[in-house]
Amino acid sequence: MESPTATVSILVLDASGTPRRWIGIEDAVGYYYKEQVAWDLGRHAFTLHGGTSRATGLRSMLTLRSIVAVRGDASRRARFHPVPALTREMLFARDRFVCAYCGGRFRSSELTCEHVKPQSRGGRDTWTNLVSACKPCNLRKGDRTPEQARMPLLYVPYVPNLHEAFILRNRRILADQMEFLMAGVPRHSRLHDGERALPA
Ligand SMILES: [Zn+2]
Repeated sequence: MESPTATVSILVLDASGTPRRWIGIEDAVGYYYKEQVAWDLGRHAFTLHGGTSRATGLRSMLTLRSIVAVRGDASRRARFHPVPALTREMLFARDRFVCAYCGGRFRSSELTCEHVKPQSRGGRDTWTNLVSACKPCNLRKGDRTPEQARMPLLYVPYVPNLHEAFILRNRRILADQMEFLMAGVPRHSRLHDGERALPA
């Protein structure tokens, strides 16, 4: 048993095992009290102590786990596995904080979201048209395609699947949650290239 910390997130699944969201411990407790938990798993278990019962004199106690499947949370949207929303931090995490042009590793404050096909030529804000680039490379490439700038891409940008998106969204994933999510990440993902080391 571990004592819960404010930084821990609980991974919520629907009853079919599809990841739905990250929530804090407090919100997870609500699912247990409303008896909406279909099943839970994970090696991490957290015990919370509540008030003392006047009838029994016993202190109430609740044990929750790091992965919780919730009833009645399946929706059509989840089954279709939509393209995950794109954020700066998720893009940098997908690219493992490596500049697509020089191959250097940077902090997120030193990286930019670079349009492979420039916006001025109709390039859009999509997972497949954006890469992480350091500021000097972004400046050097400017308003040109990689071919025009003679700056070939060192890796191919791709759309993360649902499981991968859950990994990219949370920087403090517990080992058992990581194991569960990685099982659903396709082979081509760069997340399989060794451990996910993140610079501060
Ligand atoms: Zn660079």
